[in-house]
Amino acid sequence: MTNPLYDALFGRHHGAETRFLETPDGAVWSHDRFLTLAARYANALTTLGLRAGDRLVLQAAKSPQALAVYAACVRAGIVFLPLNTGYTPDEVAYFLGDSGARLMLCDDAARARLAPIAGDATLMGMDAFDAAAAGQSAAFETVARGPDDLAALLYTSGTTGRSKGAMLSQHNLLSNAETLVAAWRFTAEDVLIHALPIFHTHGLFVASNVMLLSGGAMLFHPKFDRDQIIADLPRATSLMGVPTFYTRLLDDPRFTADLVAGMRLFTSGSAPLLAETHRQFEARTGHRILERYGMTETNMTTSNPYDGERRAGTVGPPLPGVEVRIMADGAEVAAGEIGVIEVRGPNVFQGYWQMPEKTAEELRPDGWFITGDLALMDPDGYVQIVGRGKDLIISGGFNIYPKEVEDVLDAQPGVLESAVIGAPHPDFGESPVALIVPEQGAVVDLDTLRGACREKLAAFKQPRHIALIDALPRNTMGKVQKAALRAEYAGVFR
Ligand code: ATP
Ligand code: MG
Repeated sequence: MTNPLYDALFGRHHGAETRFLETPDGAVWSHDRFLTLAARYANALTTLGLRAGDRLVLQAAKSPQALAVYAACVRAGIVFLPLNTGYTPDEVAYFLGDSGARLMLCDDAARARLAPIAGDATLMGMDAFDAAAAGQSAAFETVARGPDDLAALLYTSGTTGRSKGAMLSQHNLLSNAETLVAAWRFTAEDVLIHALPIFHTHGLFVASNVMLLSGGAMLFHPKFDRDQIIADLPRATSLMGVPTFYTRLLDDPRFTADLVAGMRLFTSGSAPLLAETHRQFEARTGHRILERYGMTETNMTTSNPYDGERRAGTVGPPLPGVEVRIMADGAEVAAGEIGVIEVRGPNVFQGYWQMPEKTAEELRPDGWFITGDLALMDPDGYVQIVGRGKDLIISGGFNIYPKEVEDVLDAQPGVLESAVIGAPHPDFGESPVALIVPEQGAVVDLDTLRGACREKLAAFKQPRHIALIDALPRNTMGKVQKAALRAEYAGVFR
């Protein structure tokens, strides 16, 4: 019997008393304790009638138990479908219906709310599931799977529209975990602070799979909690974060070079890290954050190097075994020119669940996936993301890359961050609007901003409307919700 993903991530740790998870309440889970629970879960799932290829939805608070559901699914060949814990019952209804899941596991407190939308799926609270599993055997015969069998159906974050189900095979996940362990030098000696959600590719596959494969331990935080991270940094070796983790840590005077003296690696992804944050972080700690780029559909595709130069404002060159090209008008562009990132490799998903047309639009027959992200590649292969294609502003026929304008605004005194969006304009089709978040206590002078834009940017790129706001709307992964901003400012030029 073989099940390559299970064997590589989990099976290798059977019987091992090595530390795997530690939660803030002090509970320690050895690999063996975790895998024993997962085996009972796998038996419980089989008893509930789930078979290889069936989908299981999990919408539950982050916990070792929730992660064990993932392990149980991989072992039993069940397709794992974790959902953002922030989704409302109406939103969950879409994922349940779309995926045709047989079972949904949820927090007990959410059961009553979810019952009306469960449809054909069996709905079970985690406590009831745990109780059902407690009577099950700790022996489970691993279900045989091949590299092309689906391991997970992971929905995209829904930043640009309705979430799409990305079909991820065993090999998609395993090949990427192997690549990342090697690229980032993870070993069984590593202790990772895991403060990301486990319903997203970053916390589930990048962080958890890498630690399972390398055999290291995770300090498993239910969510980002600055105090908890500061308390754990002295006994950790690594942290994987979204950019807001780093800006929030830098805001804290307790976050010092001494505190992180035992750390070897900080990585960032899921949203752009400001070059300024990168510089401040190095000045404070002596560490250069390693920024990488990926998405639900492709796992990780580029990464700044572990040993070579980690270049601020870039996401590094393609990872080994992954091909990246920058395309415009059907051809690869010259180095330094902007185009759409395309990716090909063992990491690229199998297509969108039950969306053959969408799949055909974005996944070429020869394996290249059209990401929809705009970027340029330096002559030495470093990729610099300039934004999403959907955020591109076209004003009077000219392209405006919001990031170029945001970079100018962010560099002005008192500006913490900014977002530039296009709003409908009667003459130009669209025209740029800038939303500015001032640094705490700072007074930002709009005329100074306008002056800086006049000095640095062609007239058509200069924002025609600038507004000060308290904070940019962000989702759980720290992604700026530009669609929400576009809706809010749709009327400014009318
Ligand atoms: P949807 O596809 O449903 O609109 P989404 O694209 O936000 O949502 P994810 O797959 O979670 O869903 O996110 C992938 C996207 O995140 C990438 O396409 C890219 O735009 C962005 N991203 C990830 N890492 C980085 C990074 N280091 N710098 C800039 N953007 C990044
Ligand atoms: Mg996307």
